[in-house]
Amino acid sequence: DLIPITVIGLGNMGLALAAAYLAEGHHVTVWNRTAGKADRLIGNGAVQAESAAGAVAASKVIVVCLSTYEVVRSTLIPMEAELAGRVIVNLTTGTPEEARHLDRWAKEKGIDYLDGAIMTVPPLIGTQEALILYSGRKELFHTYQSVLKVMGGSTTYLKEDPGAALLYDLAMLTMLYGAWYSYLHAHALLRTANITAAEFLPYASNWLQHLIVPSLTTSEAARILDEGHYVTDVSNLAVNKFALDNIINSSQELGVPADWLLPIQAVAEQMVAIGYGNDGFERVFETMINRPANQ
Ligand code: NDP
Repeated sequence: DLIPITVIGLGNMGLALAAAYLAEGHHVTVWNRTAGKADRLIGNGAVQAESAAGAVAASKVIVVCLSTYEVVRSTLIPMEAELAGRVIVNLTTGTPEEARHLDRWAKEKGIDYLDGAIMTVPPLIGTQEALILYSGRKELFHTYQSVLKVMGGSTTYLKEDPGAALLYDLAMLTMLYGAWYSYLHAHALLRTANITAAEFLPYASNWLQHLIVPSLTTSEAARILDEGHYVTDVSNLAVNKFALDNIINSSQELGVPADWLLPIQAVAEQMVAIGYGNDGFERVFETMINRPANQ
């Protein structure tokens, strides 16, 4: 009784998605620009369509995982007639606006559209841990929830706004790159005294676990931003600003680039200058919000 699935795009991620459906026993039709990528899937029972339109015609549910939305648009738009009445599950990464735009296009064409963001890596696809976020039409998500769960056990629906999944994706990724880059900066500083990453490991771990993670992931942390309640009796912005000065000056003395901290230092300085020196660092958030788009 399993419904047939089509997967369009067999990059690293698309291959994992198609493999997850095959492993569950679904009839899987695939299409990829470079046909050779389907070889192993065909060996496991997948059918390779001769054209993207042929792949669409084979199933009610079409999972799309291509490199960019531009590629998604150039692949899907010419097939609007074949897609009408079917369900597109688009797991390609893009901007929230791209998702909203494609959702509007689908509505106009009578195509059911669900947008998703994959918050995991290909080897974890099909496991309980795999987190995939969806947004857009709630009733569509509920209808196909069990089919979507094949790709990720931690499949979650967010909101009606079709851009929400990719907004969460942006939020999570900016946290990732901020953390990764600051980690590398830390180790470049340590390297000036020949301290290895292995030596620093217990301290990095302690710092993350006891200071950084609680400061970002408790309900108290959420409340500070949600209520704009920035008072602190722990560590104020004036002190944090001196810490930033010290990191930047010391890095420069040691020949380690610290330019990524300059905008943070500037905004901390600005907040202290206008009288928020006694607030917590989170006061800086006020400089980022309530702005008109594109400014
Ligand atoms: P890959 O680079 O491995 O695959 C890209 C896919 O896009 C291939 O199927 C490729 O086809 C296709 N493609 C690219 N350009 C065109 C084009 N002009 N016309 C037709 N097809 C085209 O990327 P991934 O599979 O890793 O990523 C796919 C999506 O999944 C991305 O949006 C990515 O951000 C997202 N994602 C990936 C994760 C990962 O860890 N890999 C994690 C979370 C999200 P061809 O084989 O012919 O080149």
